[in-house]
Amino acid sequence: MSITTSTAANVSAPEAPRAFTEFTLAEARAWCTSQGWPAYRADQLWQALYRHAITDYQAITAVPAPLRAQLVTLLPLCSSAVSAVATSADGSEKRVLKLADGETVESVWIPMGAHATVCVSSQVGCPIGCRFCASGMDGVARNLTAGEIVEQIVHAARAHPRCEINNVVFMGMGEPLLNWAQVARAIRIMNDPHGLCIGMRRITVSTVGIPRGILRLAEELPQVNLAVSLHAADDALRRRLIPRCPCSNEELLQALRTYYALTRRRVTFEYVLLHEVNDRVQDARRLAALVKTVPCKVNVIAYNEVPGAPFRTPPARVVHAFVEELCARHVTAVARRRKGGDIAAACGQLRRTFHSVAMPVA
Ligand code: SF4
Repeated sequence: MSITTSTAANVSAPEAPRAFTEFTLAEARAWCTSQGWPAYRADQLWQALYRHAITDYQAITAVPAPLRAQLVTLLPLCSSAVSAVATSADGSEKRVLKLADGETVESVWIPMGAHATVCVSSQVGCPIGCRFCASGMDGVARNLTAGEIVEQIVHAARAHPRCEINNVVFMGMGEPLLNWAQVARAIRIMNDPHGLCIGMRRITVSTVGIPRGILRLAEELPQVNLAVSLHAADDALRRRLIPRCPCSNEELLQALRTYYALTRRRVTFEYVLLHEVNDRVQDARRLAALVKTVPCKVNVIAYNEVPGAPFRTPPARVVHAFVEELCARHVTAVARRRKGGDIAAACGQLRRTFHSVAMPVA
């Protein structure tokens, strides 16, 4: 079965409601002048929102009260609201955001000293349906808009005014390359130097591997990092784990070689280790032979167990042996630490329908 961008068209983002967060800065300036206000008012709003994480027009006192009153009636500043927050023992936080149409998405704030990474969702649910992942269990409802993606960062920044968000990873719910137009737009908004100013090289798009989407990423945003969820080195097992996997491993590797030729950027492979499924030494050998055909590194991630999925977390010694085998075959590989596992915020645990208990409102 193949997945094409027409899949995304079936779940396209709604036209309304729109919010200020949907604008690029140039569009916000144009909107202000179209309403009879000077363009610099847009810059003031933009800085209040993205530099100071102010999500209420009335608190932006740098702009005149009549403009604030007009904005309140014409255009919401943000279209989502935080409905719950769960804090992990390791300090990471999962935020549940309620969208204007009643859908929910989840994002994760991961602190690292004075800085933090935000893991954002790109769709409500996910159409790929990997067997081990909670995000695809309830299917996909629709694509997120650029504003709904950017707001995941704004809400996290608002909760942590003293901690700079300097990394964004598209590793939450959804397949970002099936919502490329909105994802690319969101990346340009979060990269704007007058606002969030998150460097292109500090943004990572993680995909199951959509060849056409990988080439678009290389052409349109070549400085953004690319991570590919591989999980199996042979086609039969990969298709079992990722039933709606859009291409063969060879087609995927061919697209990645073209990606490298266009960008000169190393690819990161994500490999979720499922105990007694893909975690044997011979699996590592097969993986090394496959990925060595493109400049890369491999992140090995011990599986985070998900209720309802028939997979188990491998013991630490198995993870260690797997990484050692890759390194022995001259593949750069690291075991990635899990964060947020106790609040179902780790890789593959975010979900569209929120089932957890007793999470306080932010
Ligand atoms: S692992 Fe990624 S692509 Fe697969 S179902 Fe989960 S969110 Fe979708």
